[in-house]
Amino acid sequence: MKTINYGIDLGTTNSLIAKFDSGTVEVFKNPVGFKETLPSCIAFRGERTLIGDKAREWLLKDPLNVFAGFKRKMGTSDNYFCPTKNEFFSPMQLSSMVLAELKGFVHTQEKPDCAVITIPASFDTVQSNATKKAGYDAGFREVVLLQEPIAASLAFFNKIADNELSKGKWLVYDLGGGTFDVALIGITETEMRVIDHVGDNYLGGLDFDHSIVMDVLVPKLIKQTSIPELSTELNKRQGRYEKLYYILLLKAEEAKKELSQVTQTEIEFSYDITGNGEEDFFLEFTREELNACIKPRIESTLDMIRKVLERNAVSPADISEVIMIGGSTYIPYVREVVHSSTGIKVNCSADPTTAVAVGAAYYAGSKSSKLEEEKKEPSVNTVGQTDTEILRFELSYNKTTKDTEEYITGLVQNYREGLQFRLTRSDGGFDTGIKPLKPKLGEFVTLRSNGLNEFRLKVFDAHMNEVPCQADTIGITHGLFSLFGQPLPEDISIEVDDVENNTTKCQVVFERNSILPLTKTIYREVSRTIKKGSDDKLIIHVLEGNSKAHPNTNQAIGIIEIKATQLQGDLIKGSDVEIRLEITESRDVSVQVTLLLFNQQFSNVFSPTEKYISIQKLREEIKEIRNMLHAEIEKAANNEDFEKAADIQVLAEKLQKLYEDAMALKEDDLSDLKYQIEEQKRKLAQQIYGSENNPRLVQAKANYFGWRSTIQYWCETYADMPQAYKEEHEALKQREPGAFASNSFFQLDSLQKAQMRLINKMVLYTPSLLVVFYMHYANLDESEYKDLKAARATISAAEKALERKNYEELRSHFTHLLSLTKDSVQMEKIAGTGLG
Ligand code: ADP
Ligand code: MG
Repeated sequence: MKTINYGIDLGTTNSLIAKFDSGTVEVFKNPVGFKETLPSCIAFRGERTLIGDKAREWLLKDPLNVFAGFKRKMGTSDNYFCPTKNEFFSPMQLSSMVLAELKGFVHTQEKPDCAVITIPASFDTVQSNATKKAGYDAGFREVVLLQEPIAASLAFFNKIADNELSKGKWLVYDLGGGTFDVALIGITETEMRVIDHVGDNYLGGLDFDHSIVMDVLVPKLIKQTSIPELSTELNKRQGRYEKLYYILLLKAEEAKKELSQVTQTEIEFSYDITGNGEEDFFLEFTREELNACIKPRIESTLDMIRKVLERNAVSPADISEVIMIGGSTYIPYVREVVHSSTGIKVNCSADPTTAVAVGAAYYAGSKSSKLEEEKKEPSVNTVGQTDTEILRFELSYNKTTKDTEEYITGLVQNYREGLQFRLTRSDGGFDTGIKPLKPKLGEFVTLRSNGLNEFRLKVFDAHMNEVPCQADTIGITHGLFSLFGQPLPEDISIEVDDVENNTTKCQVVFERNSILPLTKTIYREVSRTIKKGSDDKLIIHVLEGNSKAHPNTNQAIGIIEIKATQLQGDLIKGSDVEIRLEITESRDVSVQVTLLLFNQQFSNVFSPTEKYISIQKLREEIKEIRNMLHAEIEKAANNEDFEKAADIQVLAEKLQKLYEDAMALKEDDLSDLKYQIEEQKRKLAQQIYGSENNPRLVQAKANYFGWRSTIQYWCETYADMPQAYKEEHEALKQREPGAFASNSFFQLDSLQKAQMRLINKMVLYTPSLLVVFYMHYANLDESEYKDLKAARATISAAEKALERKNYEELRSHFTHLLSLTKDSVQMEKIAGTGLG
């Protein structure tokens, strides 16, 4: 049996490689310089490519040809331009060079061909897949992804001999160079699981360094040189002081590290700032100054700790300790405030730099490799046998244990007399020998210490011929903690039509924090008839993000477009669609769609390393947001709220420009323009539909509550109000907590629309209320009617109906009158997905 064994921490700042070997982990050192860390930095120097420390040094000589921090851009279409090569490099390509270099650290003769590579817990499907692809491009034939906080926890807890001590809940606080993550971990006897996590992919040591330069060093330099433009000119690409910026950045980082040991230091460098030749500079830098610099960012990490505790209803007293990892947790201030603000004990015993790599190696040591399986002889052929004939074992056992023995039990399906079995451990260290098979199996097996034990079960007939059977490989890990599994960082949904509201919405399939791998089948109906051969299509759009928000704010990870020309017949409205979605632990997403009407199947596997975008869909989405904004502007202008109208106008113009760009895109466009347009659309959509302090949300809430009290008043005042409406009003109130908790404009909007529909019904079908409204519209200023003559005629007809107390007739005149007034707004109908 082969396990993966190699674990790699592909960090923003530093990368490491480690290997698991019979219970212990070795972190490999760079054959040059003997350091464990390889800076994640690439330099192109003429024909040569420098990786790691050499590349970092080159930063001072030729900053434009040196690239670092690219992990932050993983999975985006942002590429780095390299002038000496006259070539673009993607974050994925640069990462793959780092990974290939790490392979060279392995001093044994072995060439690693599979590895566990770590990713931040908040990496989405696209970022994860880009990391995996970087691994394959670096020559690994098998790549398994592992979230960093889990890796760190594995490293930490596998060192604690006493299990009792580790039971409970823990926090892992990982503050590195580029990212911050805090994870809430739960531990039982042998298993650990990530309960929840919060993170920021743009918060780390790099940001501290930048702030040291801009907020501390530059003001001091300006004082010394009297060149005020330093503060604006310093970090301009290809500007006069660009090189100085990199020098200061490097010096700032060095000084920052020193200040973890001492309370004050001096920064020394020489540079020709004035243009009159090189000068030596000395700048004082104290721990206090550093602390002041990083304070706001550290506070935001504390907010994230609070958030993860609060939303899981865990109090700080319930937490055993905070495990500190990541290079930036060397900073004393960080350790102090995490403790003082939460009251939780801070544990700094894990090595902040190596913990993730070590944990990745532990995981790799318990994970069997698929590469070996490919080479294995095919198992006994079960083809040609029906389901009722194949022997099937349903086994149960602990997947992890600290005991050296484990009891495997199980039932044998389709049991027959006269068979025998044999259970063997793959390394040959255990063997039951041939034994008669009974309907119930129960065997003690012995385990090899500190690692994964695999057992295989074989069945034979009386003549010792192997009998086909179905039994999964039995894997039991001894000594180490096993993982309950990796949680999904965001909801995965399918976009479906919201016909009532003339828009689309997310139908959640997998919720955030569900444990990977995941499989689920959902059933939906076709929302409109799709005629065979027409140019219509049914769209199955897989989304990642907050499922309570509008689909426009989510990220697209895959799409299946079923064209009407592919259909076997007309796809009738209301017919069933079966959608099966599967996500592997390494984040491959597969989708299988079955149109049950024809039993026609469509499927695809998505491993997006960049966002996946349908141009037609993109145009539709932009159009929908744009139309909505136009309606909003009109509404604001009608209410004479010109300030608001002007604000929305700014957004609308951006969308108009985006719409034109999207219209100009060709279906076969190869550039990354569509990704850029999509990104901008998503950001705008989040701004419009999403954010918590969105003034639109506040306004929408105010509107909702305004109408709500009006309805309440009607219910109490108009005795002829049908009971059903009063009940509907109560039902709407039930929906409020959900709509307000989600803080999504979309949810609220949908509640508001339901409210409007109720108001319409109340007005039209409560005679006394109908009369009140009719009177209002019959007495409008003449300029308010679009067609005065028609309005007058309708009013006189309505008056007659009113005299006769014929409310049905009055209702029809009233609605006609409404359509003759100027404030009736008509929305364009959206195309939708065809999936209801
Ligand atoms: P990443 O996970 O981003 O690759 P690391 O966990 O290796 O990063 O942390 C790197 C960051 O930690 C860098 O910003 C570095 O400046 C910072 N760092 C390393 N050592 C120290 C130290 N002794 N004091 C303060 N910061 C440090
Ligand atoms: Mg890290």
